[in-house]
Amino acid sequence: MNTKEGSERRICQCCGMPLEDEIIGRNQDGTPNEDYCKWCYADGVFTYSDMDELIDVCIPHMVGEGFSEEQARVYMKEMLPKLDYWKRYEDLSDNGQFDEFKKQLIDEINALSIAGMPKVEKLNSLVGKYVNLAYRLPNGANVKFLDDEATYLGTQLEPEFGEHTGTDRCFGVLANRDFILIATYGAQGADPQLVLYKKR
Ligand SMILES: [Zn+2]
Repeated sequence: MNTKEGSERRICQCCGMPLEDEIIGRNQDGTPNEDYCKWCYADGVFTYSDMDELIDVCIPHMVGEGFSEEQARVYMKEMLPKLDYWKRYEDLSDNGQFDEFKKQLIDEINALSIAGMPKVEKLNSLVGKYVNLAYRLPNGANVKFLDDEATYLGTQLEPEFGEHTGTDRCFGVLANRDFILIATYGAQGADPQLVLYKKR
């Protein structure tokens, strides 16, 4: 661990990301957990149980920062097993409960059969702040549905048929224990349109 005089550089003990105050995960009672980021640890639940899945999520972000894909994968495979979560995985894991919940959510989303939207295969953890788009309602009001601080499950999908095929519009899926939200939007979340918001 890198230590400087009096200050220790903290990294998430699941994914290795440097921990700034604003991305620190929360325990179930809302208190911060200084060991993990919000993507890996949300309201007392660990969101990753499969190291390879986590690596797949991290790699695109690292490739933008000077790593080749192969270098990023080698680096992650070496670094992750040294982190506390993966070392103590047997003690910390929830015996697949969260994975079970993800599977159930995926089935529910796919059962909605949204026209033009491909089947959801995977959901990743996403932090509200970065995906909290404002939707314009028919009455002209702009509404946001997410809590900037909270962690959600979601994914982005390219349309497979219908009016948005071949444009830069994507489907965005976001969900948690309480709701499923599906929207379309252009590059960088431009002009978002709500397709469905459903309480679970
Ligand atoms: Zn993390």
